[in-house]
Amino acid sequence: MKKKVALITGISGQDGAYLANFLLKKNYKVIGTDRRSSRSNLWRLRRLGIEKKIIFEEMELSENCEIDRMFKKYRNLNEVYNLAAQSFVATSFNSPINTSNITGIGTLRILESIRNFNPKIKFYQASSSEMYGKILEKNQNETTPFNPTSPYAISKVFAHFITKNYREAYNMFAVSGILFNHESPLRGEEFVTRKITLGLTKIFNNDLDCLELGNINAKRDWGYAKEYVELMWAMLQRKKAEDFVIATGKYYSIKDFIEECLKILKIKARWVGKGLGTKLVRLKDKKTIIRINPRFFRPSDVNLLHGDASKAKKNLIGNQKQI
Ligand code: NDP
Ligand code: GDP
Repeated sequence: MKKKVALITGISGQDGAYLANFLLKKNYKVIGTDRRSSRSNLWRLRRLGIEKKIIFEEMELSENCEIDRMFKKYRNLNEVYNLAAQSFVATSFNSPINTSNITGIGTLRILESIRNFNPKIKFYQASSSEMYGKILEKNQNETTPFNPTSPYAISKVFAHFITKNYREAYNMFAVSGILFNHESPLRGEEFVTRKITLGLTKIFNNDLDCLELGNINAKRDWGYAKEYVELMWAMLQRKKAEDFVIATGKYYSIKDFIEECLKILKIKARWVGKGLGTKLVRLKDKKTIIRINPRFFRPSDVNLLHGDASKAKKNLIGNQKQI
């Protein structure tokens, strides 16, 4: 059988690496696009032992001509996974224009190119639970209205609706997965889960005195990236192009996450103080090992995300082989 060909933007990121690994195992030919500055940043692909199995191409999402060149060159593509983005919420407040250009308009550039060169390509857009922002419903599913609270989330809302628009206006197979936070050992170190696991490990090894965090009361519905990428693929194998929420349906606070890490490291500690004065004090030597630094607060934050993935459970999970 002829090999399917998939193009992944953002191949150097967490999801790009896991998805590439998954597609290679499914015997796909995988083309991964990155920007020039990423060449030194392929550690995730190396860690999974797949760097040499991928065909790399340079494609900066701000450059129409680079995107057009890609779709002119690879007219035989079956699937495109658009995972590239300025993906860190905190940075989006400092670089709102760049974030909109890459995370928002970058998606439109790809869709336009697909429409011009091969509208039969199936397209996956990496939408985000951040789009729900200051949540308007207790559990968020595909019909929950968006209420974004950061330049990142607003850019993702644009990308989400432009994907829907190309599906409806041009009959393209273009879908969005609204993924809730998903983590792994390959997650970027600026995100809170990795910052905490790395920070506490350093404290355990006496390489760091104290870890500084922002809003530790925020709650997230955290899943596992390696599993979530399989559902991206499953969305593109269906007959009907539709959007899906992917979530665990459970949520925990950053504080809960810290406490789980402490158990694993067998560090006994106690929270003291309130608000900005909150501290985590290690019992054995009374040292403060976590404190709050207002620098890590965002101008506006998402306090709670709690996904309802019933539609995906019914239509995607456990169904991958039949689709
Ligand atoms: P990462 O931050 O790990 O990866 C983002 C990728 O985008 C990197 O490969 C990065 O390249 C690339 N990129 C950034 N800017 C540009 C640009 N200007 N041109 C081309 N490529 C660029 O994100 P994840 O793998 O965690 O997430 C994948 C996608 O899913 C992202 O779109 C993210 O917003 C979205 N998402 C993620 C969630 C999560 O919890 N992980 C939740 C919901 C949505 P470089 O290596 O050069 O920086
Ligand atoms: P996000 O949900 O995509 O913004 O993922 P993050 O992992 O960056 O942040 C999750 C939550 O942790 C947000 O509500 C942050 O405000 C909160 N948080 C608290 N302290 C920190 C910190 O030091 N770094 C980061 N990245 N987030 C923090």
